[in-house]
Amino acid sequence: GLEQRPYKRVLLKLSGEVLMGDTAFGIDTNTINRLARELIEVQQSGIELAIVIGGGNIFRGMSGTASGMDRASADYMGMLATMMNSIALQDAIERQGATVRVISALHIKEIAEPYIRRRAVRHLEKGRILVFAAGTGNPYFTTDTAASLRAMEIQADAVLKGTKVDGVYTSDPAKDPSAKRYETLTFTEALAKRLGVMDATAMSLCRDNHMPIVVFDVTTPGQLLKAISGEAVGTLVQE
Ligand code: UDP
Repeated sequence: GLEQRPYKRVLLKLSGEVLMGDTAFGIDTNTINRLARELIEVQQSGIELAIVIGGGNIFRGMSGTASGMDRASADYMGMLATMMNSIALQDAIERQGATVRVISALHIKEIAEPYIRRRAVRHLEKGRILVFAAGTGNPYFTTDTAASLRAMEIQADAVLKGTKVDGVYTSDPAKDPSAKRYETLTFTEALAKRLGVMDATAMSLCRDNHMPIVVFDVTTPGQLLKAISGEAVGTLVQE
């Protein structure tokens, strides 16, 4: 919670969408380079940083099922989409001279290390940025749930959820001009009101394990470092 700020070790969830920038699909080069630069700033400030990246800019399981695919098959495609994003992010970070490792929940050993918890923590202790690919490795889950799970496993101080919106609102700010942003929120309230923090599986996992979530706007330059340094940006969800 607030008392842990500034954070020492964080799990950053980036949705696939934030890699698109202003484009409609895939990965925008300027956007991923800018994000990589900000991630390196975080690393250089001595904060241990693990990232779980989504795949929605390329493929989501649910859009596969909408066109008649088997859910598990579609979800595996979604996990592979997160792998593509992970490799792109690793590349962007490395090109700017920082150290980074992709760790995958699915075995694709030619391009990513397998997930071994102790090894992942060791990388963090050595100051490397981690990119967790392929979510939890299981269909019927999301990368939000993977973010919650990995945050617990590596004993992160918080989950930072970087989105296109600067926090959680009483209603959709794009549709309702009277929508107000919450500065803080409890898990119970967020779940009961079905506020769009993360999906219910991810949120109840955080609630049951006392893992705070900060929802913030990662598309505005500078917000990431502020959120990580513990400035009151976005919405803090805790007990
Ligand atoms: N996915 C999955 N299991 C996981 C994580 C992800 O099956 O543990 C699949 C699922 O189909 C999902 C897709 O990968 O739709 C992309 O992840 P997500 O939708 O969470 O990405 P985001 O919305 O954050 O970009």
